[in-house]
Amino acid sequence: MAKVQEAAFEKAETKRDYYHLIINGERMESSNGSTIDACNPATGEIIAKVAKATKEDAEKAVQAARQAFDNGKWKKTPINKRSRVLNKIAAIMRSRFNELVELEVLNSGKSISAAEGQVMQAIEDFEFYAGALVAHRGSVNNVPGQFHNYTEKEPVGVCAQIIPWNYPMMMAAWKIAPAIAVGCSVIVKPASLTPLTAIVLGEICLEAGVPSGVVNIIPGPGADVGNYLVEHPDVNKVAFTGSTPIGRDLMGKASQTLKRVTLELGGKSPNIVFDDADLEAAIDGSLYGIFYNTGQSCEARSRLYVHEDIYDDFVDKFVEKTKKLKLGNPLDKETHVGAIIDQGQLDVINNYVQSAIADGADILTGGKPAVIEGFEGGYWFEPTVIANVNHDMDVVKEEIFGPVVVIMKFKDEKEAIKLANDTEFGLGSALWTKDGGRATRVANQIEAGIVMVNCPFSAFPGTPFGGYKQSGFGRELCIETLDLYTETKSIISFYGSRPLNPFGI
Ligand code: NAD
Repeated sequence: MAKVQEAAFEKAETKRDYYHLIINGERMESSNGSTIDACNPATGEIIAKVAKATKEDAEKAVQAARQAFDNGKWKKTPINKRSRVLNKIAAIMRSRFNELVELEVLNSGKSISAAEGQVMQAIEDFEFYAGALVAHRGSVNNVPGQFHNYTEKEPVGVCAQIIPWNYPMMMAAWKIAPAIAVGCSVIVKPASLTPLTAIVLGEICLEAGVPSGVVNIIPGPGADVGNYLVEHPDVNKVAFTGSTPIGRDLMGKASQTLKRVTLELGGKSPNIVFDDADLEAAIDGSLYGIFYNTGQSCEARSRLYVHEDIYDDFVDKFVEKTKKLKLGNPLDKETHVGAIIDQGQLDVINNYVQSAIADGADILTGGKPAVIEGFEGGYWFEPTVIANVNHDMDVVKEEIFGPVVVIMKFKDEKEAIKLANDTEFGLGSALWTKDGGRATRVANQIEAGIVMVNCPFSAFPGTPFGGYKQSGFGRELCIETLDLYTETKSIISFYGSRPLNPFGI
């Protein structure tokens, strides 16, 4: 594999024409010289070339991560020093905030307001884990007899971290921060469509003092490079965020070597508006809940249930506001809804809308690809509201991953809960009511990892994020994530004064 001589991480440029793999603390070309075109979904233009990892590169990355873990340099670094390095990563990110945001917008097509929030959260994730790792510890347990038992948390080892294209920087931070906090080594495989900010984050980790080989970044094809990592015997854990079908497949493959697995998968999250809700807040929050990040969000509240008494009024106002959403230049702060990631995803969204029309649904607004002046080469879809649907339709059952919401009526609390839970997924959910008792009752009965009550926000550093049912398992973004990157060792010692002789011989 060709090393690139100018590799130096004192200060890596954020925006450039070419991005390398990061393996063992070096910038690397792909073993066969192949590249990925990183595009701007808003325009369709190629913005940079990226080295495309092969299986050979994946093998190098695994060996680098293995060696970095086994030599103990990072995992034996005292906790306060590891914490300082995580804070330094955050500090460097802060100092490059605007560059990182711009790069994220250019490579993902998302609106700058969404990207700003996500890059800021990525920074705060490192700060959160810089503190959380200090609080992460084992336990001392009561045991009968003259035995002392305590537990220690040890890093699980080499982690393959496979991430999707919808939140490129935030997902990289959600994965890297807790893993390196506890002393693991990681190989991050970003989605081929959006590798740029993850690569820069890898460089920042090195600049901040993370030892070579602890953080490796290798964008490449999932079925090839991703699969190779999942099956590799030297990889101890797989942390995957992506679609449910790939997650299922990957779990089967990881079982061959009994890897630790966490899966953050798809969703079809319900959003319930009761008749006693603050209507304006519910409308604004529901709008954000589906159209934020152009609906390309795992916890997008894409099934909207509205009490029958307020249904007509709610729908009129919701549609009116949907029509006011501004699509356009993602770098413009006034833009609400950015581009769709690529032509393939645009076709998927369009096909779902067409299937709804064929099934007899009503399109209340939107319903087709959008043409944006000055951005004609990009991939755009009109924010779409669909009514007159039922739970047999694909558009209600399946994750669309675009700016499309279906609206249905319910008559009482019981029916709302039944409809909300009538899904194979269980990631996000939201409810709007002024009745505190109802909020608690409904929250208790919803089968989802996250319940948003009178608010549209699902993730802050420190709040557990993850799914029930086919939305996966394991929680990210919180203290318990550290447990998922560690093994618990139980130490039992005898402190009696007489020797033990269990056989009595
Ligand atoms: P995807 O499943 O197609 O790909 C995700 C990642 O897996 C990519 O890096 C891809 O290259 C890789 N991959 C693909 N095939 C693989 C294989 N056989 N072995 C190993 N790796 C493989 O998902 P996507 O289209 O990139 O992202 C959208 C999906 O991600 C949606 O379903 C969304 O709900 C989900 N998502 C979930 C969360 C969450 O926290 N639950 C967050 C963001 C996105």
